[in-house]
Amino acid sequence: MKDRVESTDTVIVGAGIAGLSTSLGLHRLGLGSLVLETSDCLRVTGFAFLTWANGWKALDALGIADTLRQQHELLQGLVEISTITGRPTSEMSFTDGQENLTGGGRHEVRSVGRKLLLETLAMNFLMAPLGLTQRSY
Ligand SMILES: Cc1cc2nc3c(=O)[nH]c(=O)nc-3n(C[C@H](O)[C@H](O)[C@H](O)COP(=O)(O)OP(=O)(O)OC[C@H]3O[C@@H](n4cnc5c(N)ncnc54)[C@H](O)[C@@H]3O)c2cc1C
Repeated sequence: MKDRVESTDTVIVGAGIAGLSTSLGLHRLGLGSLVLETSDCLRVTGFAFLTWANGWKALDALGIADTLRQQHELLQGLVEISTITGRPTSEMSFTDGQENLTGGGRHEVRSVGRKLLLETLAMNFLMAPLGLTQRSY
């Protein structure tokens, strides 16, 4: 896909998570960018990212956190199990401490699907008005 390309000082190579996030972040600041991608489609294979509080802060800043929150369960904790003994080797609670603004415990942790993250970034990227954020696939 090729869209109108106007002059810009910022060129981003690669429409992956990093490239799309950077372009969307710049757009939120009112800055345009040109994203160059070699593939003719989004590379959405893979599984998920365990996304912690700082990741949610970044997604909040990009304006896509609430959409993703609605599609991913808040995790209560993490249990590691030995594949040899079948027994837990360590446990971590995400709910200890004070309630946070999103209704969870001290840590907001969700397993975010890689495909959903990329598609949400791309959708917001494509919805950005031409002239602010430019793209060239
Ligand atoms: C197929 C795959 C599945 C993965 N799944 C997971 C997972 O489930 N969980 C996890 O934690 N990590 C996973 N990873 C690890 C990966 O590091 C991250 O998911 C994430 O994709 C990294 O984002 P990125 O934007 O840095 O790089 P990428 O997502 O790799 O994006 C880079 C983009 O740049 C483009 N590109 C490269 N060179 C050029 C060029 N010269 N000109 C133009 N465009 C170019 C590529 O086509 C690509 O679209 C996976 C990686 C891959 C490759």
